[in-house]
Amino acid sequence: MIIVMQSHATDEQLTGVLERVSSLGFRPHLSKGIERTVVGVVGDERPVDAELFEVLSGVERVVRILHPFKLASRDFQPEDRVITFANGARLGGGGLLVMAGPCAVESEEQLHASAVAVAESGVKVLRGGAFKPRTSPYSFQGLGEEGLMMLRRVADDLEMAVVTEVVTPPDVPLVAQHADMLQVGARNMTNFSLLQAVGDEGRPVLLKRGAGSTLDELLQAAEYVLSRGNEDVAVCERGIRTFETATRYTLDINAVPVLKELTSLPVVVDPSHATGRAKLVAPIARAGVAAGADGLIVEVHANPEQALSDGPQALDPQSFADLMVDVGRVSDAIGAAAR
Ligand code: PEP
Ligand code: MN
Repeated sequence: MIIVMQSHATDEQLTGVLERVSSLGFRPHLSKGIERTVVGVVGDERPVDAELFEVLSGVERVVRILHPFKLASRDFQPEDRVITFANGARLGGGGLLVMAGPCAVESEEQLHASAVAVAESGVKVLRGGAFKPRTSPYSFQGLGEEGLMMLRRVADDLEMAVVTEVVTPPDVPLVAQHADMLQVGARNMTNFSLLQAVGDEGRPVLLKRGAGSTLDELLQAAEYVLSRGNEDVAVCERGIRTFETATRYTLDINAVPVLKELTSLPVVVDPSHATGRAKLVAPIARAGVAAGADGLIVEVHANPEQALSDGPQALDPQSFADLMVDVGRVSDAIGAAAR
């Protein structure tokens, strides 16, 4: 449940409410918005009488959150959350942030060439996998720590932030040392110990939807991260498994406005994994932006035919430059309408 404070409530009254929440064995979660201050009552699902809080001085009302996710819900935090990177890039709260780069870091030269290409198109957040969760154990598994160091060097050179995947809880501190945003991949969306580990780390998290997971499950996974005190979580629609075999996955376009309604976390669309085919990436990226996505994450390779992973879906630099112009136009055209 959430406790909505009166607009003129004093600091003393707020402290009284926070203390009462703690004394009942719950963790208070304070959210000071522009319009109002709310206190989330976080803890197990024990029934607790709303009246216990309604009678406290400075309290306007108490609202029960019916969703299984609480901190992630828009009821709890009505205003859009914004993730701000050290280089000034912003995800959420209006505008469009495009993150791009190769599927995997293969070598410093390969990474550098792809990074320069996307930076020239205006990208401020570089993607690239150093730890790759591959379907086959015989596929390229990534360069690990060496890849992380390459990402950091190349990104620093170009004043970019880094988003990269972390696959296991023990790797979280290492990846966080080199990356600005930790990606939890689709295959790990329900790896609860990994979610807790990235929640404890404090770096922004890009949480991808599992190919067979519902939006409710995605938001409960986000709740794992938020409930550890990490507020910077973005959720990503990257295609789900359907009966359709024409594309690698099927982008659930409905997910974008549904997520925007249910949560104030930034919503990202991944048109690359959703389609698996370079030709389809631009139209699906445009659709994601038109539906209201706050961000895109796109795979780009300086030389897609040579890519060690996900080559068929990688855009070459020119196609990506064209995509950037088009998604910029769509974003401007819809303005605030879809957000
Ligand atoms: C990726 O971003 O490279 C990736 C493996 O994505 P997903 O987890 O969505 O398959
Ligand atoms: Mn990939």
